[in-house]
Amino acid sequence: MKRVLVTGAAGFLGSHLCDRFIAEGYHVIGMDNLITGNIKNIEHLFPLKNFEFHHHDVSKFVHVAGNLDYILHFASPASPIDYLKIPIQTLKVGSLGTHNLLGLALAKNARMLIASTSEVYGDPLVHPQTEEYWGNVNPVGPRGVYDEAKRFQEAITMAYHTYHHLETRIVRIFNTYGPRMRLDDGRVLPAFIGQALRGENLTAFGDGSQTRSFCYVSDLVDGIYRLLLSDYAQPVNIGNPDEITINEFAQEILKLTGSKSKVIYTPLPTDDPKQRRPDITKAKTILGWSPKVSRSEGLRMTLEYFKGVIKTKN
Ligand code: UDP
Repeated sequence: MKRVLVTGAAGFLGSHLCDRFIAEGYHVIGMDNLITGNIKNIEHLFPLKNFEFHHHDVSKFVHVAGNLDYILHFASPASPIDYLKIPIQTLKVGSLGTHNLLGLALAKNARMLIASTSEVYGDPLVHPQTEEYWGNVNPVGPRGVYDEAKRFQEAITMAYHTYHHLETRIVRIFNTYGPRMRLDDGRVLPAFIGQALRGENLTAFGDGSQTRSFCYVSDLVDGIYRLLLSDYAQPVNIGNPDEITINEFAQEILKLTGSKSKVIYTPLPTDDPKQRRPDITKAKTILGWSPKVSRSEGLRMTLEYFKGVIKTKN
């Protein structure tokens, strides 16, 4: 049985990855310090023999007994309000945490996949974003703590690949959504759905003309799985190129929820990217991957999840 370590296992993406590897017949070791992760996301895995959980902060020395075939490093705050609240931890998990895990990968002769991000492109001057674009990031702006941690993460991972011949994979993840996102994580999708369901105004930042491209979580997980098993060590964008403005997105959420809420405009956060859409030519040609779930279908499934969360809270 192949053994995989997933860091950030109790988070949104980490928990879905654990599910996928369990379904594929792996032994899964989940690791999380539970700062932004939620143990409820993986509670259903605890009775399984081929799942174990380690409550640990990967910014500190990491040890796992036995052999490891794969390490997937998904531990990190990922929403702007989270990484602004804990900026130093964000920098540490991307830098020190990645270094610790690369060392572990080397010791175990494991293949390491890191969760990078479209944020490495910053407020992009090239559109759509190809992997060749170097980005437009403000290192000392508020988002710099996340963006530069992830850029460093890519650099050190590539250095281990080049100088230690470690097998590495780099996925650049674009905005992803689905069940197990936190309702209060501040990102636009949970924010709008929560506001619509509670009958509050939807808060569009700036004039709402900025764009994002939203990928459903099962598509993302499938792209990551394919990348891990591929032999491609350069960064690969995984995301859904279906681009939409935040204004259009607000209207979609209002229609979907049948809410009578209004859209109000509040100041745009510093360095908020004006446009974002992945060029997925590489994922298509190298991994044979493209997204399958349309936004309308993905939003319907996500809405059901959030309705359940709100019901249990009340
Ligand atoms: N946004 C918004 N209202 C909100 C939260 C976010 O208009 O309540 C905007 C935000 O300014 C950004 C976009 O939605 O332009 C996506 O923000 P999110 O935090 O979801 O992710 P990002 O892509 O910025 O990391």
